[in-house]
Amino acid sequence: MDQSRDDNSLTELRSGDLEKAVCGLGGKKYNAGQIWSWLYKKSVFDIDKMTDIPSVLRTSLKQNFSVPLPEIERSEKSADGTVKLLLKLYDSNYIECVIIPEKDRMTLCVSSQAGCRFKCSFCSTGKLGFKRNLYAHEIVGQVLTASVFAGTRITNVVYMGMGEPFDNYDEVIKSADIISDDSGLAVGKRKITISTFGHVDSIIRFTNEDIRYKLAVSLHNPFDDERNLIMPANRKYGLKKLFDALTAYTKKSNRKVVFEYVLLKNVNDTERHAKELIRLLSALPSKLNLIKYHSQGAADEFGPLKDEFALKFYNFFRNQNFPVVFRSSRGEDISAACGQLTAKRKAGE
Ligand code: SF4
Repeated sequence: MDQSRDDNSLTELRSGDLEKAVCGLGGKKYNAGQIWSWLYKKSVFDIDKMTDIPSVLRTSLKQNFSVPLPEIERSEKSADGTVKLLLKLYDSNYIECVIIPEKDRMTLCVSSQAGCRFKCSFCSTGKLGFKRNLYAHEIVGQVLTASVFAGTRITNVVYMGMGEPFDNYDEVIKSADIISDDSGLAVGKRKITISTFGHVDSIIRFTNEDIRYKLAVSLHNPFDDERNLIMPANRKYGLKKLFDALTAYTKKSNRKVVFEYVLLKNVNDTERHAKELIRLLSALPSKLNLIKYHSQGAADEFGPLKDEFALKFYNFFRNQNFPVVFRSSRGEDISAACGQLTAKRKAGE
């Protein structure tokens, strides 16, 4: 099959759609369940090796579908065990995903786009510009490929890799539905986090559709004029619209929003910022993740906050009993940390 199309991958189909497709080829519903199990429980992606499927049906499947997976071009392992995979897509676009092993879980940070159009000034991906949206099967493919590579099940998925997930809403939600399906990869809905810079239109849609994945927002500054400078997309919506949409989301879903805040030296690190953050975030059920900034090389216009100042910022929230964590850095030595993903094929490229 032609792997350059999006509509012929078996891993592009939610389970109900796979059933319809299999029945349309003359198979039975239970054959769809068997195929689902081969793909998502047994990691078998070759239709010929799905031995309990009748050979006539296998032939029709091969004539109509394929199971394209991203190719691993390179893997890099950090001193802390984090692994970054550089993946080649069918059209020679490159993306990255990051496997983060922890004591009781195996988290995968997935990309949702090749590049990104939103140009946040502290983000390496933003500097690449936008190439294209990923299809759902290319996101699901990251989970399948990473799981085989790591030799273990992925337990948590965060949409925090390359791209803005809510700029590719349909494919992202479809991929999360496939990844969370109980009869396959079975990553719990509460263990899937979609992270957005604050794409208000999609947050409203997410709320209206009552979708139950966790929502994270990259805030990084509580003042519109300053946020506009580091996140130009803020000009379109502004914080008022963003927080109105998030308030509606928390009311309807009864869930918290996780706010991500990367600490940038002399940019967003003062008591004035902390006070305004508390004022804004106290208006809705929320939690704050403070993140260490990861340098992007010599030409970088930003710098990380020294640990003692980061601790002071963190303690400001702790002292007011505001739910806050300081997220430890993972994979910084291999440029796999937040804001560092660039899908470079060689050093300097
Ligand atoms: S932070 Fe997110 S939205 Fe901003 S440029 Fe980077 S990938 Fe795009």
